[in-house]
Order: sequence, then structure tokens, then C-alpha cells
Amino acid sequence: MAILIDGKAWAAHDRAQTAAAVAKLADSGVKPGLAVVLIGEHPASMSYVRGKDRAAKEAGIYSEVIRLPSSTTESGLLNLVEELNHDERFHGILVQLPLPAHISERSVIEAIAPHKDVDGFHPLNVGALALGLPGMIPCTPLGIMRLFEYEGIALEGKQAVVIGRSHIVGKPMAQLLLAANATVTVCHSRTTELASLTRRADIVIAAIGKPRMITGDMIKQGAVVIDVGMNRLDGELCGDVDFADVEPTASHITPVPGGVGPMTIATLLNNTVKGAAERVRI
Ligand code: NDP
Repeated sequence: MAILIDGKAWAAHDRAQTAAAVAKLADSGVKPGLAVVLIGEHPASMSYVRGKDRAAKEAGIYSEVIRLPSSTTESGLLNLVEELNHDERFHGILVQLPLPAHISERSVIEAIAPHKDVDGFHPLNVGALALGLPGMIPCTPLGIMRLFEYEGIALEGKQAVVIGRSHIVGKPMAQLLLAANATVTVCHSRTTELASLTRRADIVIAAIGKPRMITGDMIKQGAVVIDVGMNRLDGELCGDVDFADVEPTASHITPVPGGVGPMTIATLLNNTVKGAAERVRI
């Protein structure tokens, strides 16, 4: 039986630490602030934004959700981002993706001041991660690195397979694993012989968006399996990993829900406080 990595419990631990850091910053007269911009009425986005706002407030962060209609123009959104860049109440700016098709995500991400880019998507932050320089690191992969640390999972010299190469999860995940001295293989929709690659892996990270695609026969005995996927199947939330099939083979596994998702939010709060702390040079 695999050890269940309880992301919900570790996230609660992280959030308590963030709340303590917020209290410490208050002694310097600083209250970390997060602005979350939500365009339109995408149901999943609305739910993510509510979760982020609630968690930020619980940690003592000043949080504001700015809701705009889906008819918002790109220039209107860029003007708002510019205002937020100069608004000293906010140390973090998050524009919830996806954006309506008429707005360029790239232009909006590039407009966010890199030091307030708590998602870590700005090219300067992406470059900093690639070069091993300080910067904002995307929340989901950074949250996964924390899970490895908390669970005492060593990465050095391990064979890690990341399935998915998005800017949000797969690529930054691969960079972080590489920086931790794992040997990293990145797979994607054009990868051939996926199962033969995953079967050699000590660590498998599934960030695909395909319900229960990773099955037990694709996993080496004793591998660590991290499921990033958040899919709806018959009205239920499920991951990219077939949990029941993989769990007997893995040494450690994250559940969905209650695995990676809560860590993403905890890490967002941490990035916001980091942004605030760096402004006052604590
Ligand atoms: P994207 O759709 O941006 O990327 C999916 C990746 O999976 C792509 O690189 C794609 O390859 C690859 N892929 C698709 N089909 C296959 C296949 N059959 N075999 C191998 N690779 C494949 O998704 P995201 O990275 O944004 O998200 C991935 C999943 O993680 C989603 O379910 C999302 O909801 C979830 N997620 C969860 C978060 C959390 O906090 N738990 C946070 C962010 C995302 P290609 O590049 O060739 O198209």
C-alpha cells in the first residue's frame, strides 16, 4: 500500500506558517496584499478565485477580487494591470486564466510587474527559474517540491518523468526537478512509447488533463506518483492517474482532490507574502 501524500494537511501547515509571517510583517507596518482579476463567468475559474480569496483572507492577507465582464477589452485589462502595478496595497497580482479569446494572455502576463507576478508566468520569472536565479516560481510545481521535502522524498539522482509541458505546470516542474539533481524526461502528446518511459521512472508527475490516463501497468514498483490533473468525469473531480489501479504499485501517491490542489493555493499565499517581505527587505 502506498503512503498517501496528504496535500490538504501540508497545505494547512504552510498556510499557518504564512499567517505567522503575515503577523510578523505587521510589526513592520506592512500588510501583504493580493489582487485577483477575474474576467467573465467561467465556473471553474470562479470557484478557484473564491478559494484563493478565502484562503488569503484567512492568512491575514489583504485580498481583493476584481471582477470584470467578458466584454472587457485587452486595453482595458492592460490599463487595470498597470494601475495595480503601482498600487502599493498589492504585492501580488494574479489574472485568472483562461482569458476570453479576444485578449492575449501573453500581453497581459507581460504587463504584470515581475515582482508582483505571484503566478511566476512573466518571461523574466520564467528566465530566472531556468537560470537558477531568484524570482517568483509557479505555484503548482513549487507546491509539489514542498510535498517532496515534507515527505522526505529524495530527488537527487532519481529518474523523474513529467507528463505535460505547459508553462504552468510541466515545464517549470521539469526545471525544478533538474535543479534538484533529478534526471528529467518531459513527455507530451507526441511522445511515443509513453508507458516504457514512465515504467523506468522513480518519480512520475502527471499534468495532462486526461482523466485516469495513468494506469498501474505504467508505473514501476515503489515509484512516487504525483497527480496534478483536475478533471470532471461523470460530475466527479478526478485526476490524471487511475488512483485505485496505481496505488498498490506506488510507494507514495497524491489523491485528487486533497493532493496537489491545496498546495497550489498555499504556495500562492506564500509567494504573495514573499513579495511583500522583499519590499521591506526582511
Ligand atoms: P495543458 O492542457 O496546458 O497541458 C497538458 C499537457 O499534457 C500538454 O503538454 C500536452 O501535450 C500533454 N498531453 C495531452 N495529452 C497527452 C497524452 N495523451 N500523452 C501525453 N501527454 C499529453 O494543461 P495544464 O498543464 O494547464 O494542466 C494539466 C492538468 O493539471 C489539468 O487537468 C489541469 O486542470 C490540472 N491543473 C491542476 C492544478 C492544481 O492545482 N492541482 C493547477 C494547474 C493545472 P502537448 O504539449 O503536446 O499538447
